[in-house]
Amino acid sequence: MEDLPCCPKCGSKYTYESEGLYICPDCAHEWPIDSMPEGVEDGVIVKDAHGNILKDGDSVTVIKDLKVKGTSSVLKVGIKVKNIRIVEEVNGHNIDAKVKGFGEIMLKSEFVKKCT
Ligand SMILES: [Zn+2]
Repeated sequence: MEDLPCCPKCGSKYTYESEGLYICPDCAHEWPIDSMPEGVEDGVIVKDAHGNILKDGDSVTVIKDLKVKGTSSVLKVGIKVKNIRIVEEVNGHNIDAKVKGFGEIMLKSEFVKKCT
């Protein structure tokens, strides 16, 4: 039952499925199974510094000088990162991306801004 999302209302882990609904036994909250936005898996919603929801394939701009782990390089403010990938969070890093000159790196969504 590890695939079931926690209750959005009280955070209970004991939700169960019934007839197209998730049901929380703790607070009796019910919500539709297909209510998650398209492309978002496991109920993970990643937002940029301004609260915009980020998706796979989005382009973002770095809003803070960021040290790239394992290197002495710094990703400078204003660098555009194309075609990001939302990944399971590792040490607060929840975006995977390839950046010219840096290769594959991970970013924190709070330090980027979605390009529109
Ligand atoms: Zn609940």
